[in-house]
Amino acid sequence: MSKEGYDHTAVERRWQEAWADASAYRTPDDVDDPTYVLGMYPYPSGKLHMGHVRNYTITDAYARFRRMRGDDVLHPMGWDAFGLPAENAAKERDTDPRDWTLDCIDTMKGQMRSMGFGYDWDREITTCSPEYYEWNQWLFRRFAEEGLAERRDAEVNWCPDCETVLADEQVEGDDELCWRCDHPVEQRELEQWFLLITEYADELVDAIDDLDGWPDSVRQMQRNWIGRQYGTTLAFEITGPDTADADADHGTVEAFTTRADTVFGATFFALAPDHPISEALIERDEAVREFVRHEADPDGDEPNGVATDLTATNPVTGEELPVFVADFVLSDVGTGALMGVPGHDDRDHVFATKMGVPIEPVIAPEPDGYDPETDGPPAAPDVSESAFTDDGVLVDSGAYSGMRSAEAREAITDDTADAELTTQYRLRDWGISRQRYWGTPIPAVHCHDDCGTVLVPEADLPVELPEFINTTGNPLDEAEEWKATTCPECGGPATRETDTMDTFVDSSWYFLRYVSPELESAPFDPDRADDWMPVDQYVGGIEHAVMHLLYSRFVTKFLADAEGLDAREPFTNLLAQGMVQLEGEKMSKSKGNVVSPQRIVDEYGADTARLFMMQAAQPERDFDWSEEGVRSTYRFLTRLKRLVEEATTDRGGDSTADADGRTVNPDDPIHDYVASEIDAAVAIATVEYDDLTFNVALREAQELVGTLRSYVEHATPDPEVFDRGLSVAIRLLAPVTPHLAEELYAELNGEAGDDSGAPLVVDTDWPSADVDREAARLRRRLVENTREDVRQIVDVAGIEDPSGIDIVIAPDWKYDALEIAIDSDADNLIGELMGRDHIREQGDAAASYGQDLQAEREALTATLPGDAEFDALRAAAWLVEREFDAPVAVKRADEADDDVVRKAEPGRPAIEIRE
Ligand SMILES: [Zn+2]
Ligand SMILES: [Zn+2]
Repeated sequence: MSKEGYDHTAVERRWQEAWADASAYRTPDDVDDPTYVLGMYPYPSGKLHMGHVRNYTITDAYARFRRMRGDDVLHPMGWDAFGLPAENAAKERDTDPRDWTLDCIDTMKGQMRSMGFGYDWDREITTCSPEYYEWNQWLFRRFAEEGLAERRDAEVNWCPDCETVLADEQVEGDDELCWRCDHPVEQRELEQWFLLITEYADELVDAIDDLDGWPDSVRQMQRNWIGRQYGTTLAFEITGPDTADADADHGTVEAFTTRADTVFGATFFALAPDHPISEALIERDEAVREFVRHEADPDGDEPNGVATDLTATNPVTGEELPVFVADFVLSDVGTGALMGVPGHDDRDHVFATKMGVPIEPVIAPEPDGYDPETDGPPAAPDVSESAFTDDGVLVDSGAYSGMRSAEAREAITDDTADAELTTQYRLRDWGISRQRYWGTPIPAVHCHDDCGTVLVPEADLPVELPEFINTTGNPLDEAEEWKATTCPECGGPATRETDTMDTFVDSSWYFLRYVSPELESAPFDPDRADDWMPVDQYVGGIEHAVMHLLYSRFVTKFLADAEGLDAREPFTNLLAQGMVQLEGEKMSKSKGNVVSPQRIVDEYGADTARLFMMQAAQPERDFDWSEEGVRSTYRFLTRLKRLVEEATTDRGGDSTADADGRTVNPDDPIHDYVASEIDAAVAIATVEYDDLTFNVALREAQELVGTLRSYVEHATPDPEVFDRGLSVAIRLLAPVTPHLAEELYAELNGEAGDDSGAPLVVDTDWPSADVDREAARLRRRLVENTREDVRQIVDVAGIEDPSGIDIVIAPDWKYDALEIAIDSDADNLIGELMGRDHIREQGDAAASYGQDLQAEREALTATLPGDAEFDALRAAAWLVEREFDAPVAVKRADEADDDVVRKAEPGRPAIEIRE
């Protein structure tokens, strides 16, 4: 520990205990609609990392701010405790995933306490406990009952050597090798469970428009993920070479296009490598086999393909098109087949150029003033170098030539046999089966007789995990005793389902469990959920933009429909926090560039770590960890502590004199200046905390501390002003540096070392101010600009040693004129101004100022009223006095010479400097 600092360990421990004794973060069940602040719960990997610390400091600071603002707050924490890493760690260490996970939770919980995070630990949830995962199983049953859970074939990773299914994470490297034995992994079809999220695709995409508390980037990622497209399905007849081969006729293949208007420009047809026709071709066509087995690369930068001897008949033109097998056609998107229009699609253009397929223009840009009724079709564009991909007017398209793209799409769809308007989605159903141990058992059994797959009845839930077996494959497959069960339908022998659920099921509704974590009869208390949900502020990493955040929205909508939950969206406001980096790089264990939060807490304390992080950048931005920044933050807190100590020990009995016998000069305007700076800090910091721009709020708090320090140095402070300043500064810092804030607040209130009965900062009211943020900013800008003007005049005039400085406020009529000019929409502003007697009376001065206003009209902005400007400058005069070592007089217009007053304007006083 630094000798320069304070005993942060003792301070932090003292207040952590005081909060626990006072149950300061408990949210009683009977509170009305609390502000629900939530950080994404962590995977218990062993230790908190800097990303966690940042995430949870953001939610903690916001929760504390809302609490001090008078809200009831719900701020819970739990553990995303299932998952493969625990299973792997258990295998490596020859232990049990449960023991390993609970150990990790224990460690991380201790670290969270040492960070001072104010959670309601009575609401803690752990997803690997049967009390929690029972409700995953219940949820699964509810999906099945509503027809939204389905079992169907899907591909899984299979290691032929280990004879086991592998999770995607167990398949390693570009060569896709088994993580255990390095054998190449194969694909196998196996029956898997799916939740039918696609049934909610439309609502999930439409409702994104209303999520205005979410970052645009996340909303766009969800839209793209769902990938809704409106278009047309066209049926192409596929035929092979005229041989004796029985499968020369492959029948019709449907292809989806959003651009049916370009169908006359189709010059090829393409099939996915795993399309049934492609698979049939592999059997008899060497080139296709070679391509599919060895060359096709759907993730490659360039589209690749191979010609076949098939042709496809364009259903609109009757033209015969060559058929390719191409790797950019994906079987799980649309129909696994597409018509290629290289003149009007970039990727098709690249492919056609490479394969020597003709490129034909059939859409032209719409000419200005184009009228499809009277004008002929425009000239076709040159598409030989690149595709024209916008909508336009059809050319060389038979009867449709001259039509606009949108109308043509409709007409072509209407006129063509078997063509249909279709909505297509990129979103697939949610495959939740995982062939691993450490997850929620899927509550199903397979009857040995004729009942097939049967769900475990609700009364028999939870289906608990058996003891862990350390094996190469899925431990559940080898838990013979556990697997053998009876069929709930016929009572005959049956085998349990050995797949467990994707852990994203656990996290898709955990925010509801915090509402009633102990409830044994249901996953959540419906009345309380209706009152407390949705989460008001959710905070987590951008890596969850799609899966977790989309599944949570899906499950919430499902529960709204199936269980009558009021909320249809889980999270009203979302903040995706940026990364904590080191020298511009993501911290990672493998790169060895990790800063341990524990070390920072030991050396400098949690408050320093929290404050450094929150002031370093806006929460959404990445920022670089800096040891120097940490040290300087620590020095700031240490100085603040001394300032409070000095203030509280120096205090004499006489409130007008300090301990050194210096008396307060009540006429010194510096007191007003400091008082208005205190108000400004409150006004600005409050709005910034509300917007979660903590860095700006904290700058206010820190500058206020600087102002208070100057105050002591420059004058004998008015104790009332000074104490309020300290109290405000402490409370503005309290959400981010809660321990030291408690310590200093107690000291300031004369209760140092005795926290029994003293008010805790967490329960204290947020400070209030007499000004709003805008007025505070105007006042500051006025003071800053005036100081800058004085500097410039001194500089330009070469005044070495000014003997006096006058600052002269504009006359009242100019403030009136400015206000009129801002509000007015009259063409003749001068006329309008001269209609006012008190302005017209000013004669030439009024005319001249009126012209200035007219000239600047677009750029005019409001200023403070004249009286407020006078007060602000008078209070700030000591700053100018100190800087130039000369007496400063702030004057009203009627106290100054006319030729000086003439130069004064609202927001810009006249300045006169005497040598
Ligand atoms: Zn293997
Ligand atoms: Zn049965």
